[in-house]
Amino acid sequence: MHASNQRSATTALFDAAPTESPVDVLRRVWGYPAFRGKQADVIRHVMAGKDALVLFPTGKGKSLCFQLPGACLPGVTVVISPLVALMRDQVEELKALGIAAECLWSQQSEEESRDVRARLRAGQIKLIYVTPERVVLPGFAGLFGDVPISLIAIDECHCVSSWGHNFRKDYLGLGKLKELYPGVPRIALTATADPHTRDDIIRQLELDDAAVFGDSFDRPNITYHIAERDNARSQLIRFLQRHEGSSGIVYCLSRRKVEETAAWLNDHGIKARPYHAGMDPAVKAENQDAFRMEEDLCLVATVAFGMGINKPNVRYVAHLDLPSSVEGYYQETGRAGRDGLPSEAFMIYGMQDIVQRQRMIDEGDATDEIKRIERAKLSALLGICETAGCRRKAILSHFGEAAPDRCGNCDTCNNPVETWDGSESSIKALAAVYRTGERFGTAHVIDVLLGKDTERTRKFGHDQLAVFGVGKELPAHAWQSIFRQLLALGYVRVAHDEYGALKLEPAAHRVFKKEVAVILRRDAVDTVRKRERGKPVVAATRARLTDEDEKLFQALRAERLAISKTLGVAPYVVFPDTTLVSFATVRPKTEQEMLSISGVGATKFARYGEKFMAIIAGG
Ligand code: ADP
Ligand code: ZN
Repeated sequence: MHASNQRSATTALFDAAPTESPVDVLRRVWGYPAFRGKQADVIRHVMAGKDALVLFPTGKGKSLCFQLPGACLPGVTVVISPLVALMRDQVEELKALGIAAECLWSQQSEEESRDVRARLRAGQIKLIYVTPERVVLPGFAGLFGDVPISLIAIDECHCVSSWGHNFRKDYLGLGKLKELYPGVPRIALTATADPHTRDDIIRQLELDDAAVFGDSFDRPNITYHIAERDNARSQLIRFLQRHEGSSGIVYCLSRRKVEETAAWLNDHGIKARPYHAGMDPAVKAENQDAFRMEEDLCLVATVAFGMGINKPNVRYVAHLDLPSSVEGYYQETGRAGRDGLPSEAFMIYGMQDIVQRQRMIDEGDATDEIKRIERAKLSALLGICETAGCRRKAILSHFGEAAPDRCGNCDTCNNPVETWDGSESSIKALAAVYRTGERFGTAHVIDVLLGKDTERTRKFGHDQLAVFGVGKELPAHAWQSIFRQLLALGYVRVAHDEYGALKLEPAAHRVFKKEVAVILRRDAVDTVRKRERGKPVVAATRARLTDEDEKLFQALRAERLAISKTLGVAPYVVFPDTTLVSFATVRPKTEQEMLSISGVGATKFARYGEKFMAIIAGG
């Protein structure tokens, strides 16, 4: 965009009223009516020159905690971010608000870099985004001339911990910041909930004196839904049809599956693009960019697609394979609904996933200790997949957070799962494992339970066993479900050194002795299908709009897209969906009414307010 415009807008915004309070700045510049959660506390704290560690879940508005102080404090705020895509996105958003922000990165043109440096020295830049390796280079401080550094923000600070996912070696160097910039307050931010990672962050970044600001990790606008795999592709299509016209992410485990799924979706009328680490970098970048710019694209990706996603209106995240852990699942699904509007997390999985995952752990070359941790992580995830209770409660309690018994916004709350006393069936299942010598996988054990005449049952003489055919009262998929649950409950395990054979765990004896009742969930019915018979879930954002408002919303969306194309920025940089929804329902007609809508600040109003008002007047 136009650098000179940016500059004059900023000067006007901040020099005119140097005594404005943070909330006044929030209202005038961001156009938001109030701080969210603990934002105000954090901002007050860092503006008083003190260190902070901010642990908010995705979407709670971490960025504002350093962006607003950065805009208000004298001097410059240095923001350290692990990914260029993330930096550029935030810089774009700040510029759209009229705040002088820039980034320095290695592939910038010489001319651009020179311009940024000159403006830095002249004190014309409020927030400068840099990569971790650059900030610790000797001479970095020299870039600023006499302009003081007011604040250092370390975004995605869990990258410093080798415990979390996303460990970045460059982040380790940030431990030196305290020594390099004595007296400059630091704010570190992450959405990682795990206490171990948090302690690691404090240690590595020397944040012992920092105040820790935490918030509930709940994401109330995300609906959780986990289903048994039946026919993965048709389950996925049915799910995606409910999100027509919106953007989302479909995660797959392998690159090949990513490619195949994307191609298949395109053949079936769903606009999809693949993304994985093995792609041609140019195509990869193009697909990532398409995801930012387009509003109805399904991105099929491996977990390589992640951290750089700033898009607030990701309406769904689907997992076609079991994620790596509860932490991974929560991080990936957390990419949905940063704007706070209803969004959906959907996962399908089956016995095969568990077997495969256990094999990966067992055959990996990690130490026994790491393998033990990996197994524990897998069983925690299975516990959530197989719970008959509220998913949200199960997830939050994994992170040590209390939650009500029913959230009312997950599959098990919406369609309560029937439970049944599966003790008798469990005894049969466990006996079949035992009698066949704990040497076979589920498929064969189920054949035995069903009394199937197969080559293997005959070859091993299993057709002669007392358990042969004792499970005929239930179909094969019910037995699959029982075995998955026995696994999740810790009564059996899968041994990979023996080709996926089921083994009894010591706890199984208590089942045999009838010392415990085995309460199981009855999940033979695919809840997507069940829900489809009822009222379809329309693309969530628009669910609340009347037909009339919907028409206006679409017209506003088209205008937003046109503006975003002209400016070369993502549509959500112009206005988020939440703002357009308010335009369509409140229908502001005057400048005053327009400015009272959340997301409309002075600069955005000046730049595009009239255009939207004209459409509203005509709508
Ligand atoms: P996080 O980094 O915690 O995931 P972001 O900083 O990206 O969250 O903020 C998520 C969304 O919420 C952004 O679109 C942001 O503009 C918006 N937001 C942040 N603070 C507020 C607020 N006080 N009122 C309204 N919207 C806000
Ligand atoms: Zn629930």
